[in-house]
Amino acid sequence: MSPVVTAALRRITRRGTPLAAWGWGLAVLTLVATAAVFGVTLEAGHEQVRRAARQRLVIGEAVLRAAVERYGYLPGVLALDTEVRGLLGNLDAPAGIAAVNAKLEAIAEASDVAAIYLLDRDGLTRSASNWDQPLSFVGTSYAYRPYFTEAVATGASRYFGIGTTTNRPGLFIGKAVPARDGGFAGVVVVKIDLEGLQREWRQAGEHVLVSDAAGVVFLASEPAWKYRPFRPLTQVDTARIQAARQYGDSDLRPLLSEWIDGGTIELPCGDGTMSGIVERAAMPDLGWTLWYVAETDATLRQALLASLAAGIACLAFAFALAAASQRRQRLRSEQAMRLTLERRVAERTSDLSTANARLRGEIAERERATAALRATQDELIHAGRLAALGQISTAINHEINQPLAALRTFLSSSSVFLERGDTATVGRNLKRMTEVTQRIAEIIRHLKVFARKTGPEHWEPVRLDAAAAAALDLLAARIRVEAVQVTCAIPPEATVRAEPVRLEQVILNLMVNALDAMRDAPERRLDLTAMREAASCWRLCVADSGSGISEEHMPHVFDPFFTTKAAGEGLGLGLSLSSLIVRDFGGSLAAANGARGAVLTLVLPAAEA
Ligand code: ADP
Repeated sequence: MSPVVTAALRRITRRGTPLAAWGWGLAVLTLVATAAVFGVTLEAGHEQVRRAARQRLVIGEAVLRAAVERYGYLPGVLALDTEVRGLLGNLDAPAGIAAVNAKLEAIAEASDVAAIYLLDRDGLTRSASNWDQPLSFVGTSYAYRPYFTEAVATGASRYFGIGTTTNRPGLFIGKAVPARDGGFAGVVVVKIDLEGLQREWRQAGEHVLVSDAAGVVFLASEPAWKYRPFRPLTQVDTARIQAARQYGDSDLRPLLSEWIDGGTIELPCGDGTMSGIVERAAMPDLGWTLWYVAETDATLRQALLASLAAGIACLAFAFALAAASQRRQRLRSEQAMRLTLERRVAERTSDLSTANARLRGEIAERERATAALRATQDELIHAGRLAALGQISTAINHEINQPLAALRTFLSSSSVFLERGDTATVGRNLKRMTEVTQRIAEIIRHLKVFARKTGPEHWEPVRLDAAAAAALDLLAARIRVEAVQVTCAIPPEATVRAEPVRLEQVILNLMVNALDAMRDAPERRLDLTAMREAASCWRLCVADSGSGISEEHMPHVFDPFFTTKAAGEGLGLGLSLSSLIVRDFGGSLAAANGARGAVLTLVLPAAEA
C-alpha cells in the first residue's frame, strides 16, 4: 500500500471516524486494491504469455518452413529430368508416359509427398504419380489453377489449396519445364500434404494457424478454424478465391466478429470458445502469416487468485486496523474511566477526610460534653449525697450529741469516784468513755467517707447487707426516735458490683423516703429484703408501711426536682439521682406500691457476673 494511503488511514483512525465511514473507506480500498492487483497480474501474465507465444512462433515458423522447403527442390529437379522433358516433347509416346508415370510414382513414394504430376503447356495432366489410382490426375486440366498460371507466368509457383480432384488440401509447388527449343513445354507440380503438421500441433496442444496473403486460414490445429479469414474479405479476394476453387466450397465466414489488435480474442474451439492472445509472424517469401494463439484462461485464473489474495489481505489489514483502532479506543476510554475514577476517588477521599475531620471534631466535642456531663453528674451525685446528709443532719447531731452527753456524765461521775478513791469504778468509767469516743470517731469516719467525692470508676464487689447496715447506721438515731421497726433479710452472699459509697447513698435515699412517708403512719415498719434475681443479678426491696405513692405521682417520682415534700424537706433529686447511679452500675430502680406502703426495688448485677 502506498505511503499516501497509509498516512490517510492513520489520520482517519486518529480522528475516530464513524464506523460507517470506516466500512465504506475499507470497502473502496479493498475494491481498488483488488482491481489494481487484478490488472497488474493480468497484464504481467499476458506479457508472459505473449513472450511464450513469440518463442513458440519462432519454433512453429521453423517447423513450417522446414516442411515446405523440404521438397521445394523437387519440381526444379524434375523440370531438368530428360524423361520428363522428353515426354513433354513427344506427348503421344505411350512408352514415355508409362516411364514417367513410374518415375513420378517412385519418387512420390520415396519422398512421402501427396502427388507429383506433369502438366503440358495447356494445363492438361499428362503424367502423374497416382496414374493408376481411381482419383488419378491424368487427363485432368488444371489450367485454371493458380499454381499453373503463375508457373507459366513466372517460371515457378507456390499455392495452397484444396485439390479439385481429391478434395484434399495441400501445398502445390509448380515449376515450368523448358522446351528443348528454349520455349515453355509444361509444368511439374509437387503436392505436399501438410495435414501431418496440423496433427502434430493438435497433439502438442498448441493453437497454430497459417493464413494466406488474403488472410484466409488454410492450416490450423483446430479444424473449425480452417478456410476462414480472420477478418471479412474484400469482394475481389472472395471472387478470386471462389473462382480458383482454392478452398473448395468454404463460405469464407470470418473467424472473428471484431479484431482487437494486441488484445485477447475469442475463437470457436470444439463445442465452445477459447480466449487467448494472438502473436503472428509474417513469412513474406511465401506470402503467408503464421499465427500462434496462446490461451489466457490460466492467466485469468492467476489474476483472479492474486486479486482474491489481495482482497483477503486488504480485509485482513482492515480487520487488523479496526482491531487496533478498537483497542486504542478501548484503552482511551479505559484511561478516561480511570481518570474519572481517580478524580471521583480523590473527591470522595477529600469529602471523607472533611467528614472525618468534622466527625473527629464532633467526637471530641461529644467526649468533652460527655466528660462535662459526667463531671456534672458526679458533682450532682455528690451534692445529692451532701443534701441527704443535710436531711439527716438532725439525726446525726443526735447520734453524736448523745455519746458526748454520756461522756460528760462519765467524766463528772469519774471525778467524784476519784475523790472517793473508788478507782475500780473510775476504771470502768474510763473503759466506757473509751468506747463512747470510739463510737463518735466511727460516726465521724463514716460521715467523712460518705461525704467524700467519688467517681463511678471504683467499682468493686460490695456486700448488700454491709451497704444496708452502713445506711441504717447513719439513720440509727432517727429510727430509734421514730420507733421504726426495721427488718433486714439480706443473705450474706448477696454481693453486687458497685461503688460502695454511691450504693450506700442510694439505699440511704430509699430509707429516708420510707421514713418520711411513715412519719404520720400509726405503724412504722421498714423491711429490707434481698433475693437472687435470675442468675446474674440481686434484687433488693425496700418496703415501708407509709402512705405509698399515689397513682398520679407514680409516673413522676423519678423526674428531677419532683417532690411532694414541704419546702426545705426535699429537693426532689433523691430518686432521680439514685436511678442515675443504679443505671450507671448496669442495674435498675423501680417504684411500686405494696400491701401497706411503697416498695422501691433495686436490681443490680451480681459481683461474680
Ligand atoms: P424528695 O425526697 O426530695 O422529695 P425524691 O426524689 O427522693 O425527692 O422523692 C420524690 C417523691 O417521691 C417524694 O416527694 C414522694 O412524694 C415520693 N416518694 C418517694 N419515696 C416514697 C415512699 N417510700 N413513699 C411514698 N412516697 C414516696
